[in-house]
Amino acid sequence: MSLDILKNIISDFYNVPLIQEKVSLKDKNWFFTGGNASYYVEPSDIDGFIFALDFAKKNNHKVFVLGQGANILINDKDFDGLVIKPQLKYISIKDFDDEYSLITAASGVVFQDLINKCLENNLIGLEEFSGIPGTVGGSVYINIHYFEFLLSQFLHSATVIEKSTGKILMVDNAWFNFGYNNSTLQSKQYYLIDATFKLKNADIFKIAYAKGRRDEIIRHRVKRYPNKGTCGSFFRNFYEDEVTLESGGKKMIHVAYYLDKIGIKGMLRVGDAIVSYQHANMIVNLGAATTTDIITLVRQIQQMVKDQYGIVPKPECQLIGFKEYPLLD
Ligand SMILES: Cc1cc2nc3c(=O)[nH]c(=O)nc-3n(C[C@H](O)[C@H](O)[C@H](O)COP(=O)(O)OP(=O)(O)OC[C@H]3O[C@@H](n4cnc5c(N)ncnc54)[C@H](O)[C@@H]3O)c2cc1C
Repeated sequence: MSLDILKNIISDFYNVPLIQEKVSLKDKNWFFTGGNASYYVEPSDIDGFIFALDFAKKNNHKVFVLGQGANILINDKDFDGLVIKPQLKYISIKDFDDEYSLITAASGVVFQDLINKCLENNLIGLEEFSGIPGTVGGSVYINIHYFEFLLSQFLHSATVIEKSTGKILMVDNAWFNFGYNNSTLQSKQYYLIDATFKLKNADIFKIAYAKGRRDEIIRHRVKRYPNKGTCGSFFRNFYEDEVTLESGGKKMIHVAYYLDKIGIKGMLRVGDAIVSYQHANMIVNLGAATTTDIITLVRQIQQMVKDQYGIVPKPECQLIGFKEYPLLD
């Protein structure tokens, strides 16, 4: 009997998730780059999540919680620690009042599946985020946004697990301290177990409109942006105090403005990593790019913006497994 089979039997017997060794992360993120995780686990319930954190604590391992990998860039070198990919998938709905309902979705639910479930159950609001890849966990972490909509506008409450103690906490919207690309989860001291959204009950006409909106947004995104081998927008927009350039009395905070001006779209390339011809803020792996190629390309972009405008674009994409910050600061 192989060691892997034996481990499977033991994990089944004790009803704990299987902790695997040396698992490739390349096929678990949207850039399709990166090395192996020393340890890897997919807990499917809260007890499994607690077990995984306990394993990491006892063995002094670093922890990284992975969603769909749609907003990360993983080092080519192995991740020396435990990668936890939550497979908690429950969704439940209950009444709030005549106008609203509460829908709770576990961290491992794919966000588009949640949107579809809402629409099937006559709940509207989240369809504005249609076509954004990722899980509920990753989406709350970054507070996903699309035009004027932020996920935090809909989040009512959540269940989180505290990393150091494994304690389960029920928290409200204020606890997250949400902002643009910002939430308390980014302290990495807590992980999302599930999130509850307060959504409007809708009649058949409003639901038909919302479904049309979902389909139209997805169609628009597929036409307008690359949707393979990328993490979406690589850089975040600037904060007002980071820029001096103004137009019509308003600070030019949109990073895409600066990236468009330096003329890199579809042109700047390192190995198989290229700036998308569709969007200057999206980097695409054409097939064989490594994370090192992407980092080299990103540094070139940062340097070009710095030379022309004196400011350095900062990543929205999360950099995973780097001992030292690999980009320009
Ligand atoms: C083609 C494309 C288009 C995109 N368009 C948009 C867009 O329009 N708007 C937008 O906001 N984003 C966009 N993104 C970015 C991405 O979709 C979101 O950031 C998404 O929420 C990432 O979710 P994920 O599950 O893949 O998270 P991952 O990429 O796996 O992880 C991202 C971060 O979330 C953390 N995380 C994941 N799960 C948990 C958890 N349970 N608890 C605590 N932390 C957790 C991770 O540790 C990591 O730090 C786009 C990405 C792509 C590839």
